[in-house]
Amino acid sequence: MPHSAHDIVVVGSCNTDFISYAPHLPKEGETLTGTKFETGCGGKGANQCVAAGKLGAKTAMITKVGDDIFGSQFLESFKASKVKCDHVGVVNGVSTGVAAISVADDGANCIIIVPGANNLLTVEDVHGAGETIKSSKVLVCQNEISLDVTHAALKFAHNHNVKCIFNPAPAQADLQSDFFTIPDIFCVNETEAEIMTGVTVNSLESAYAASKILIEGKKCQSVIITLGSNGCIYQAKKDDKPVHVPTAKVDAVDTTGAGDSFIGSLAFYICKFPHLSMTEMLRRANKIAAMSVTKRGTQISFPTAAELPVDLL
Ligand code: ADP
Repeated sequence: MPHSAHDIVVVGSCNTDFISYAPHLPKEGETLTGTKFETGCGGKGANQCVAAGKLGAKTAMITKVGDDIFGSQFLESFKASKVKCDHVGVVNGVSTGVAAISVADDGANCIIIVPGANNLLTVEDVHGAGETIKSSKVLVCQNEISLDVTHAALKFAHNHNVKCIFNPAPAQADLQSDFFTIPDIFCVNETEAEIMTGVTVNSLESAYAASKILIEGKKCQSVIITLGSNGCIYQAKKDDKPVHVPTAKVDAVDTTGAGDSFIGSLAFYICKFPHLSMTEMLRRANKIAAMSVTKRGTQISFPTAAELPVDLL
């Protein structure tokens, strides 16, 4: 790959996580007494950027936060993970995005997001950060900011030969065709795959069926479907067989942010270890995400390069 000023640029969200832990998730109308409360910097965009930054990639974030204490905490957290913040806008009189997360003893979770400043990121902001995007090897986008902004970022990066990873999470059923066709890698979890294909993904066979629809029907270039403790499947292109890449067996205590750890790690390997096969990159990304689910919290659970076993570096 040619020399780039950045390895990875993320155009996406910042949400402060308010995480309540309880024996099980509440049913409708139920009030539960929890066992623990934590707050931390999150949002899929920030998480994926920090996940890659903690592993040692040169990352930059394009996002907006509010002029509240949470916005300041994001700037601190980006600094600590060496994420470049030239294009992190601070908007007066608006709240930073927030996510109310509940985590059960078995690691299951549910989340409500209020986007706040995330919704104020504009297409003009993306074009204003054009030099940063052009000088990166990989662009990563998710679905927690306006679709037109994500579309502009994917299109701009693609037109400048920057590899695009798109993680359409949370899923939307009616995405226009560009969101499938432009990204080099289209990465979804089981729920997102089901919403986009109509196939209930609960086995390898059903994951392969969903991948076929994404590649042949939706014209994705390549597809990854993450399968929680089952690792992931990957299909490189039409007519290629999907491959299953299993992950390590671990005692999961909190799966929040597992997908973000996985995608940040994958982006890291694409930039830093481009000679590896995709299957090997996915094996390593699986392992890093498995490490992250053995710890509580989101960004705090993502390993640093120093914490990785030698076979992952
Ligand atoms: P999301 O967090 O988006 O719901 P997944 O649950 O599919 O995504 O998890 C993403 C990745 O994290 C998986 O592909 C796997 O590598 C890893 N992972 C998630 N849960 C576990 C688990 N219980 N044990 C080991 N690895 C896990």
